[in-house]
Amino acid sequence: MTYDVINPATEKVVRSIELASEEQTDAAIARAAKAFETWRAVTPADRGRLLRRFADAVDADLEHLAALEVENAGHTIGNARWEAGNVRDVLTYYSAAPERLLGQQIPVAGGIDITFQEPLGVVGVIVPWNFPMPIAGWGFAPALAAGNTVVLKPAELTPLTAIRLGELALEAGLPADVFQVIPGAGTVVGQRFVTHPAVRKVVFTGSTKVGKQIMAGCADQVKRVTLELGGKSANVIFADADLEKAAAQAPYGVFDNAGQDCCARSRILVERKVHDRFLELLEPAVKAFKVGDPADPATEMGPLISRTQLDRVASYVENPAFQGTAPQGPGYWFPPTVLDHDVRDEIFGPVVSVIPFEDEADALRIANDSEYGLSGSIWTRDVGRALRVSRGVEAGNLSVNSNSSVRYSTPFGGYKQSGLGRELGPDALAAFTETKNIFISTED
Ligand code: NAP
Ligand code: MG
Repeated sequence: MTYDVINPATEKVVRSIELASEEQTDAAIARAAKAFETWRAVTPADRGRLLRRFADAVDADLEHLAALEVENAGHTIGNARWEAGNVRDVLTYYSAAPERLLGQQIPVAGGIDITFQEPLGVVGVIVPWNFPMPIAGWGFAPALAAGNTVVLKPAELTPLTAIRLGELALEAGLPADVFQVIPGAGTVVGQRFVTHPAVRKVVFTGSTKVGKQIMAGCADQVKRVTLELGGKSANVIFADADLEKAAAQAPYGVFDNAGQDCCARSRILVERKVHDRFLELLEPAVKAFKVGDPADPATEMGPLISRTQLDRVASYVENPAFQGTAPQGPGYWFPPTVLDHDVRDEIFGPVVSVIPFEDEADALRIANDSEYGLSGSIWTRDVGRALRVSRGVEAGNLSVNSNSSVRYSTPFGGYKQSGLGRELGPDALAAFTETKNIFISTED
């Protein structure tokens, strides 16, 4: 079976991709299980060196990878360069890990007690279409660093950069079958990662619906699982904030990547006494948001990923408060859109609700009135309030006077139905290792 990859800005076929069958997936998993025996034994310094070479290969190919993502996913060229650079940086960050996977020495009676962080085996990474490169790297880089081998399934819609990353790993000298990219359907390849007993862990990013199925499926083998699911994050703006700055930056906090971002600040909560003033400032910023050819460096937002996603997003928009502009003609275009009412679903498109609140308690009540809890922002000049509200919002990634959520050196993940476990940062390795405890008797 093959799949025609479509350029979402033109609706033209880019390339036809062979999809893996269940038998081919099983064969790849078997090769990964065999490669694990040698990869885990590569010395820590050599494993680190190979990951740095992989990072260098990504860096040398950065413009090519970015161009592939512009064509495949309609990402703006500026974003696509950042995304390829993020893969490089995540590889570099975790290349230091093999030599720092420290255990403990614990005082006990009658001997010595030491712990080891041991790799799990084959790790299956299932990637969505919204950030094909970074989300792949957040899974495979720490998994490989910890001594696991990886089978990775890109989204059917966006396999091109993942395939290229697989080639670059081999060019950089990673042994064959340590990192394999397997394009295919979620219900075939992804599902097999869940059911195959040699896959010891599944890392999944995508919809909450599929995430729940994966968690349920993994329970059968007590398989380890990390989930990064949806979000409906609040951007909370208090009256004492730098309102001009908050309004100027709010569009980027939700319309970046055409709103197809699990961290999108898709609910702007504004203290009632500055609500009208905020909307006056927001409207020109939304209308000036530059939507168009993603290859043009001046463009701020490209198309949605697919016709399906366009129809889904459009179905949420009736009587918008105001909208920006988008190109006509071929491509899955939708204009930046502002609503004056709340929407509970994750729309995953360039649509934001602006909702007034009365006071701090009311802001927290509205922000937390969601099954999701991934990220959020607090805009205020009062440091105490910034901390109180940050601590009060039930979400994993908060930013104060900023809308940025992701740094490769800090933990990322969700509360409630936004996910399970944390990626990135110093702690991610724990999710790719088992702790082994060994007691050695020193008695005669
Ligand atoms: P999805 O179905 O959850 O897809 C995510 C990944 O899981 C894809 O690689 C997909 O493969 C795979 N998959 C699908 N069904 C599977 C199964 N039964 N077993 C194993 N893997 C499976 O997401 P979607 O349908 O593309 O998007 C729907 C909505 O999900 C979006 O509108 C958005 O609200 C949300 N979403 C969230 C994120 C996020 O970052 N949290 C990312 C993407 C989507 P295929 O490509 O073959 O389907
Ligand atoms: Mg799906």
